[in-house]
Amino acid sequence: MSKPTTAVRDSTYERDMHRCVSCGVIVALSFQHRRAVGNGGSKIRPTCEDGLTLCVLCNNRAEHVLQARALYFGWKVRRWVKDPSRVPVYYPHEFEWFRLVGTRRERITAGAAHEMMRDVYGDEHETWRAAA
Ligand SMILES: [Zn+2]
Repeated sequence: MSKPTTAVRDSTYERDMHRCVSCGVIVALSFQHRRAVGNGGSKIRPTCEDGLTLCVLCNNRAEHVLQARALYFGWKVRRWVKDPSRVPVYYPHEFEWFRLVGTRRERITAGAAHEMMRDVYGDEHETWRAAA
């Protein structure tokens, strides 16, 4: 997946209230690709639903040490998931789950979020809980 357009990046930061979704800082923000970029990348431009606002440090950690946590909270999405809007996102600073819809987000209950996760991942989702 290639870089987002400026409009998509700005809308993503706006949706996420210009702070890192993971640690809450408001500096050094970056557009995180929720779906891993494949070998050789892709020509497809990401949408807001493909992206999340993370600081540079958390963005890097989400790919490595924080990976199970990032999957559990929907910050990362398995590559084979064709539609990233099927995976809800947890915003720990608001203690709320959201469904991403276009450039917006809609608050949902934790129960609804887990149902969405189960639909996509089945029991695998539970295996990431310990890391969250
Ligand atoms: Zn951060």
